[in-house]
Amino acid sequence: MIKIAIDGPSGSGKSTLARSLAKKLGYTYVDTGALYRAVALFMTENKVDLDSSDRICSRLADISLSIVYSEDGTQHVYLCGEDVSEKIRTSEISMAASKVSAIPAVRNFLLKTQRNIAQSANVIMDGRDIGTVIFPDADVKIFLTAGNESRAERRYAELIGKGENITFQKVLEDMGKRDQNDSSRAVAPAIPADDAVILDNTEFTKEMTFDRALEIISQKLRERNGKM
Ligand code: C5P
Repeated sequence: MIKIAIDGPSGSGKSTLARSLAKKLGYTYVDTGALYRAVALFMTENKVDLDSSDRICSRLADISLSIVYSEDGTQHVYLCGEDVSEKIRTSEISMAASKVSAIPAVRNFLLKTQRNIAQSANVIMDGRDIGTVIFPDADVKIFLTAGNESRAERRYAELIGKGENITFQKVLEDMGKRDQNDSSRAVAPAIPADDAVILDNTEFTKEMTFDRALEIISQKLRERNGKM
């Protein structure tokens, strides 16, 4: 099975890119951030103190999570039987996900779910540690990034489009905090794998990012096939 890892910070366009690549290549798209968001939603709805890793860990056994794909390939995340795919997209849950994701037991809890999907299908997985931890042996690793202002502008447009009442300044600040949490945590920090191709799309349109990523993938798969 082929595994393509797309890692990078929030607002870099990972999910847009990974989704369109999966469609083009006929692969299964996995948005791993949605799993951390679902855990965060569970803890928030159950009023678990997000600063207490002990309390969080003690509730993990109560969580049942599954990923289901609709016919057009859209990923839906079910938390204890409820489709929470929309509910997990708020800025509150983004920050909560960043908190819970720093806890090693939470990462461990989600590890199997992520690895299992790639056993039966070619996957394009987006996240923070796909190329470093989940699939260190991925066939292609892209670390997608962009300047802070550009990423915050994209996030801001997305949240406003969903009707959230938030200022650009707050989005920029939250994003900075999240980047800091995610890249400095002790376990699985959000950093590029040594063998990842860094793709900075600050000056790129979505189409340009897609074309460049496709070039990288084609080249890496050609090299891989040449070696086999
Ligand atoms: O990608 P997304 O913004 O939805 O991810 C939400 C949060 O989940 C991130 O800020 C990060 O803390 C965490 N995450 C992670 N590892 C992943 C995917 C997401 O730690 N593979």
